Amino acid sequence: MPEILIQNADTILTMDDEARVLQGADLLIRDGVVAAVGQGLQTTGDVVSGRGCVVTPGLVNTHHHLYQNLTRAVPGAQDALLFGWLQRLYPIWGRFGPDEMFVSAQLGLVELALSGCTLSSDHLYLYPNGSRLEDTIHAAAEVGLRFQPTRGAMSIGESDGGLPPDALVEQEEAILKDMIRVVDAFHDPAEGSMCRVGLAPCSPFSVSRELMRDTALLARDKGVMLHTHLAENEEDIAYSEAQFGCRPGQYAEDLGWTGDDVWHAHCVKLNVTEIDLFARTRTGVSHCPCSNCRLGSGIAPVRQMRDAGVPVGLGVDGSASNDSANLIGEARQTMLLQRVANGADAMSGYEALEIATRGGADILGRPDCGRLSAGKRADIAVWDTTGVASSGSWDPAALLLSGPTQVKHLFVEGRQIVRSGEITTLDLPKLLQRHGTLAQNLMQG
Ligand SMILES: [Zn+2]
Repeated sequence: MPEILIQNADTILTMDDEARVLQGADLLIRDGVVAAVGQGLQTTGDVVSGRGCVVTPGLVNTHHHLYQNLTRAVPGAQDALLFGWLQRLYPIWGRFGPDEMFVSAQLGLVELALSGCTLSSDHLYLYPNGSRLEDTIHAAAEVGLRFQPTRGAMSIGESDGGLPPDALVEQEEAILKDMIRVVDAFHDPAEGSMCRVGLAPCSPFSVSRELMRDTALLARDKGVMLHTHLAENEEDIAYSEAQFGCRPGQYAEDLGWTGDDVWHAHCVKLNVTEIDLFARTRTGVSHCPCSNCRLGSGIAPVRQMRDAGVPVGLGVDGSASNDSANLIGEARQTMLLQRVANGADAMSGYEALEIATRGGADILGRPDCGRLSAGKRADIAVWDTTGVASSGSWDPAALLLSGPTQVKHLFVEGRQIVRSGEITTLDLPKLLQRHGTLAQNLMQG
């Protein structure tokens, strides 16, 4: 691949260890990594103008259910609480197959890419009609995003007192067997990896204690990461106390679900003891502010978590509970919600952007991503600050106060997958048509 020089950017927010902010600077990409960042760099390769632009590391999405892009704004689920919302959607998801999984994942990843995301996790916890985790892995490979899919699972159906219909749950033995299969087939632990697989039972209320424990043992054996939903709302806490006789933090700790190889989605209701536990054990939190607002779950104590030393990243969560997935929008929402909870000086736009980049990379175990310095992966977002959204701004680098919500250019592993606001890796009108047709079919039952 020829070198690419992003030349003369107005500002580069490196998010590196020195938190360097460079003005009028260049960034050189070589062989998928950042070769240099600084002034006056030269190349014999391609040049992309950075004039009028702010350059940041690509944003990192740490929680999503890509398949849900086919069930956005479903009537009957639009205004429901979490459990009622799930019960409305389960029967629709039960009609999905491999095609739905693939096309929905592509659409979701394109949406993320346009909003600055270069690395996304995904949590796929139901496998109806022959669907498999690799449906989404193949989708991500075509779009060109760095991907960390997780093999999710549900095993407690309605007849065992669970929430999902029996047809959507799997036997625990089969789940563990498929977890081994997908890790062996698709997990690449190397630095610069484009695909790392994690293990992710859906939530403490949809699988047994035994599966939580066995999954943690398997993940440690295979050297892969663990992910689930935790402490999302008051119902969730009440369920944990009634069923397990303890709060979610204790439940996680007892079953091996703490450590720097674990990240939990939501954690809206963590108390002081649990925040301390997560900080001590370096357990990660995926903060999903729009989803938490959308479902009325509350405001996660992100300020308190960060002050205590809990690693925090951002997630858009599934489209059915957001119902949009603009990752830089989530960063803005993070900043706003912490201000609602703690005052206007509680979180700067810069800090929220740091959480959205290196924060997310760190909780996914990717210190090779999320910052721009020599040797790090060339995952880069270029934001045009000459447009309507930034006009009149005295500080265009303050992207979360007034800035574009879509990228101008996006690079993943040095490959340009968005150019002048257009996705380069696939035919978007064709994808939209295919996605629309599948959604229509689902609406008609
Ligand atoms: Zn979720």
